[in-house]
Amino acid sequence: MSEQFIRLIIERQDGPDASQYTEEFKIPYRKNMNVISVLMEIQKNPINAKGLRTTPVIWDCNCLEEVCGACSMLINGTARQACTALIDKLEQPIRLAPLSSFPLVRDLMVDRQVMFDSLKKVKAWIPIDGTYDLGPGPRMAERERQWAYELSKCMTCGCCMEACPNFNQRSPFMGPAPINQVRLFNTHPTGEMNKEERLESIMGVGGITDCGNSQNCVKACPKEIPLTTSLADLNKQTTKYAIKNWFSKE
Ligand code: SF4
Repeated sequence: MSEQFIRLIIERQDGPDASQYTEEFKIPYRKNMNVISVLMEIQKNPINAKGLRTTPVIWDCNCLEEVCGACSMLINGTARQACTALIDKLEQPIRLAPLSSFPLVRDLMVDRQVMFDSLKKVKAWIPIDGTYDLGPGPRMAERERQWAYELSKCMTCGCCMEACPNFNQRSPFMGPAPINQVRLFNTHPTGEMNKEERLESIMGVGGITDCGNSQNCVKACPKEIPLTTSLADLNKQTTKYAIKNWFSKE
C-alpha cells in the first residue's frame, strides 16, 4: 500500500513586522492524529513539501485537552483549538493560520494578553481574605449554581473574540468573554459584594455598549457558553444601575 500523507498549508510570519508567506507540508499519515501532533512532526523534522529544510512552525499549546485555550488558531478558516481538531475529520489540504484579532507573535502564535487585562479590569475574581479561616462560604441555590457553572467554563481561548466584528486590535471593545465573567462573578453570593464595581467596569468606553449584537460569539464558543444571554442580562443590569444612580443624584 502506498504511503498516505497529510497535506497542510500554513500561514507563516517570522515576527510581528516580518512579511507573511505560506508554506506547504506533507506529513506521513498515522491514525488518530490531531493538528498538534502534526505540528510536532514538523517541529521534529522541519522539511517542507518541496523537500527543503525550513524553520519549525511556532504555535502555542499547554493542556492538550481543550481547557487552557492556548492552541486556538484558524483551522480551515474556523477559530478553534488545535488539540481537538482531529485530522480524520478535516478537509485537506488543511489550512492553518493565526487568529487575526490578536497581535501576532510568530507563525501560529498570538498574544492574548488583552483578554487577561480585561479580566483584571472587570475584577473577574472573588476577593477573600486568605489570612484566616473564613469557614464555609454562603450557599448557592442548585439551579443557579448549574447555569453559573456553564459561564465558568470559559478558557479565554479567544474564539468568540475572533468571531466578533467589533473586537480587533484597533477597537477598545473588550469583547464577549470578559463581559460574560461579570455575570458569573456577580451571581456568586460573595462576588455580589463587588457587583457595582464590575458593572461600572463595563459601562464605559470598550464596554457593553460597544457590542453590535451580531451574535457571532455564541456560535463560535467551543464551550457553548450562552454569551448572548449574558450580554442581554448585563445590558439590563447596567441600565437599571445607571437609572438608580441617576435618581440617587437628584
Ligand atoms: Fe473561548 Fe467561549 Fe471563553 Fe469566548 S467565551 S473565550 S469562545 S471559551
